[in-house]
Amino acid sequence: MKLQINDTFNKELPADNNRKNTRRTVIEACFSYVTPRIPSKPVLVHASEEMIEAIGLQSTNKSSSEFLQIFSGAKVLKGTEPYAMCYGGHQFGHWAGQLGDGRAINLVEVIHNDQRWALQLKGAGETPYSRSADGLAVLRSSIREHLCSEAMHYLGVPSTRSLSIILTGDQVMRDMMYDGNGAFEKGAVVCRVAPSFIRFGNFQIFAARNDSKNLKVLTDYTIRHFFPNIKEGTQEGYAQFFKEVANRTLDMVIHWQRVGFVHGVMNTDNLSILGLTIDYGPYGWLEGYDSKWTPNTTDKDQRRYQFGNQPGIALWNLVQLGNALVPLVENTETMQMTLDHFKIAYEKKYLEMMCRKLGFQMDKEEDQLLVSELVKLLEVTETDMTIFFRNLAIVNHDTKIEEGIDFLEPVIEAFYKPEELTKEILRFWQEWFVKYTNRLKEEQRSDAERQNNMNEVNPKYVLRNYMAQMAIDKADNGDYSLVDELYQLLKKPYDEQPEYEQWFAKRPEWARHKVGCSMLSCSS
Ligand code: AMP
Ligand code: MG
Repeated sequence: MKLQINDTFNKELPADNNRKNTRRTVIEACFSYVTPRIPSKPVLVHASEEMIEAIGLQSTNKSSSEFLQIFSGAKVLKGTEPYAMCYGGHQFGHWAGQLGDGRAINLVEVIHNDQRWALQLKGAGETPYSRSADGLAVLRSSIREHLCSEAMHYLGVPSTRSLSIILTGDQVMRDMMYDGNGAFEKGAVVCRVAPSFIRFGNFQIFAARNDSKNLKVLTDYTIRHFFPNIKEGTQEGYAQFFKEVANRTLDMVIHWQRVGFVHGVMNTDNLSILGLTIDYGPYGWLEGYDSKWTPNTTDKDQRRYQFGNQPGIALWNLVQLGNALVPLVENTETMQMTLDHFKIAYEKKYLEMMCRKLGFQMDKEEDQLLVSELVKLLEVTETDMTIFFRNLAIVNHDTKIEEGIDFLEPVIEAFYKPEELTKEILRFWQEWFVKYTNRLKEEQRSDAERQNNMNEVNPKYVLRNYMAQMAIDKADNGDYSLVDELYQLLKKPYDEQPEYEQWFAKRPEWARHKVGCSMLSCSS
């Protein structure tokens, strides 16, 4: 296989001296060497053509036995030394100590077209960081990770990518609802791809252990390779690094709020230092717009990671990262300023983003009220976020907004139960639409231009929870056609794609309470 190998993480950073694959505490090291488990019968489920090419392979490669062997973990590429990373993290607000790659094994870094890519297998067996778990992954969660990471990329949301899903041929025991009803499921391995998989938690683990020496080594490495505009090894550089991470994290979260993505487990070990969406577990997509919604059953009481909390949690996580970096800087004032600025910057960027969704070229302070009133109204009765914003583009400044329900015609498809729109609720909508259409009169551009711009930020197709579940159910029976259909569909989420119109629809009623379609557990 012709990959341009260029390993840095396991060449420039300190390794764990112990090469045994036993579960343990690992100190003064960024990673431990570990060899992937050999699967009994690897079978390709799906591969992303674009990622194949991005890493410097050709699409024909995906049918080769070498591709299957390397990306299932059966064979280690010559000259490479796979490893699992050591990191810690705050889980649900509490410091959890050492976590690490419990089921992720980094294979290699490659460079293609001047872009560095780290390739990592998820589900390829236990590592020193597996704690009490098995290091494996099942087909169901692997399809969700593969499809969603690619879909996010095409939506313009910074994300880790996915090269392939390969069935291992082995059975994996999972108790999906944690209710004592365990069952065997098909095992699978996803090959994830990103410039780097370093997380907030990689820095936190050294800080927690008062290991400033390795904290500095890791931070300098990260700056050198991924923040080339920053000078490594300087006080100002570290503060600037923190600021850049905060900016990227903010951008990522704004995108999540724009498309209605709920990560579900925003622990500090699941936040990428590059501001990429990472670790697709019990994530979900808003269908009915609901700030309080979380797909994660583990979080259903506390709702720490609900849709509306994501920006606040991003800041909370940045505070933890900032604390971890404190040993590197004498004067923390600049870092404090970064944190203080986050909230203001968020408000500004959020307004900008919502105004783009509403079709306003420039945002004005007064638009804030229009946005907050809309968000409230969307929650009064169940209203599909994706359909509402996509169809809103049809409304223009001359649309007649009169008493009754007719004025809602362009967006009526978004309402799950139009019969719940009482006279009073309709009156609120009417008032809102009067203000909205008046506001549209201020736009200095043609309707067509405005509509085009709206359609560039309001996707027509997202990976609704039930869609992924349908692909999973078919794939479980050996039919991977829907995995590919959704993959193709989600490559152009902003295009009309009339041939796929069936996926521009509200969640069907059967999916409302079906496991995998509404709520998900962390079991994967
Ligand atoms: P998560 O919240 O899913 O990101 O996982 C938290 C920690 O648990 C990370 O260190 C994971 O690597 C580890 N982990 C999750 N699932 C497994 C598994 N099946 N086997 C081993 N480690 C796991
Ligand atoms: Mg994780």
